Amino acid sequence: MKRVVVLGATGSIGRSTLDILRQHPDRYELAGVTGHTQVDRLAEIAREFACPWVAVTGSAPDQDAFPSGTRVLQGPTAATELVQAAEADIVVAAIVGAAGLLPALEAVRSGARVLLANKEALVMSGELFMAEVAKRQVELLPVDSEHNAIFQALPTEAQRLWERPDIAKLGVSGLVLTASGGPFRGRSADDLAEVTPEQACAHPNWSMGRKISVDSATLMNKGLELIEACWLFGVTPSQVSVHVHPQSIVHSAVRYTDGSVVAQLGVPDMRTPIAFGLAWPARVKAGVRPLDLFAAGILEFEPPDSQVFRCLPLAAEAFEAGGVAPAVLNAANEVAVEAFLSKRIGFLTIAHVLEYVLEKLDNSPADSIDSVLQADEWARHTARTWLNSVS
Ligand code: NAD
Ligand code: MG
Repeated sequence: MKRVVVLGATGSIGRSTLDILRQHPDRYELAGVTGHTQVDRLAEIAREFACPWVAVTGSAPDQDAFPSGTRVLQGPTAATELVQAAEADIVVAAIVGAAGLLPALEAVRSGARVLLANKEALVMSGELFMAEVAKRQVELLPVDSEHNAIFQALPTEAQRLWERPDIAKLGVSGLVLTASGGPFRGRSADDLAEVTPEQACAHPNWSMGRKISVDSATLMNKGLELIEACWLFGVTPSQVSVHVHPQSIVHSAVRYTDGSVVAQLGVPDMRTPIAFGLAWPARVKAGVRPLDLFAAGILEFEPPDSQVFRCLPLAAEAFEAGGVAPAVLNAANEVAVEAFLSKRIGFLTIAHVLEYVLEKLDNSPADSIDSVLQADEWARHTARTWLNSVS
């Protein structure tokens, strides 16, 4: 029996994870869950799974709502405390945004297997995060569908990410990172000036939280994933080729020196990568509809439009710049996405905010979590000040 903690259990990835646990009560027990606000939902989960630990990070829970066997932690550091208390074998890191960094890092420090959905943690502090993974010899399993696909297509030796394998020595010549292109694929900049948050969140293939949905629409999600891939697999942006693939059937691929391209395919359902991470190296049922290749039809691939979707090249530049630039990019993006979702700014202004904040940055090394968090705070402040001055 494996004890599983789900950080961000009330979100899209959290719900998909609980769905898999529900299908395998003989293999997994829920050791702890966190959520920011949805206290009723957390209480329901605690009752259904007889979950011993719950953390509510954003609002004050009514203890009476929870079953008597559940200990409830509360406050901004409650998710980190829960990781320390719950003694999990597996932690699913599925909090959205920079708020997930410290709990994810604590999960690594606990020595548990970590299923990483919270890509922002790696974008902010990739070097420190991967150093901690290596130091603790932690089984790190990417849950992001593209990175999970790459992981599946890598040789077995290269799946031991905690050993920081040199994948070039194993015959890998490059990575293909696929992107759906989001709801605005093929649009011109003029077309995008007036799009609404509702349109941006209506993703053609995936059902996800609102922040990542906007990131998919701007292609910032692919930018964050490019950085994520660089840290996870020890490559540079020039070794990663982004392919827009509107059908979201090929979830990404690995190129080998002999000309082979090994890809992972499936219907777009996050339960596949989550189940893979939970059971690795075994396989378990995930409740996912089998892929019908006859019905899938034609699979298309095209290059991304980096002129219209500026966030993607900006992310590559931030990674190349190094230091705290990726953390600053991420924080500015969080502020900009929030402003777009609350209709304070237009869709195209998101990229302008990132450009402005990165231009203002006096870069410094990301040599401690404190320096990363300080850069995050500076970027948020700078982005907000600029937004206040223009709106
Ligand atoms: P979501 O918005 O549906 O859920 C986010 C979770 O984080 C919720 O449980 C929420 O309570 C919690 N949360 C929000 N703000 C918080 C804060 N300040 N402190 C602590 N907890 C907080 O998001 P999601 O779509 O499930 O995405 C979660 C993560 O997984 C993101 O990093 C996203 O990029 C990544 N991811 C998601 C998908 C997907 O299909 N949804 C795919 C790949 C990667
Ligand atoms: Mg993804």
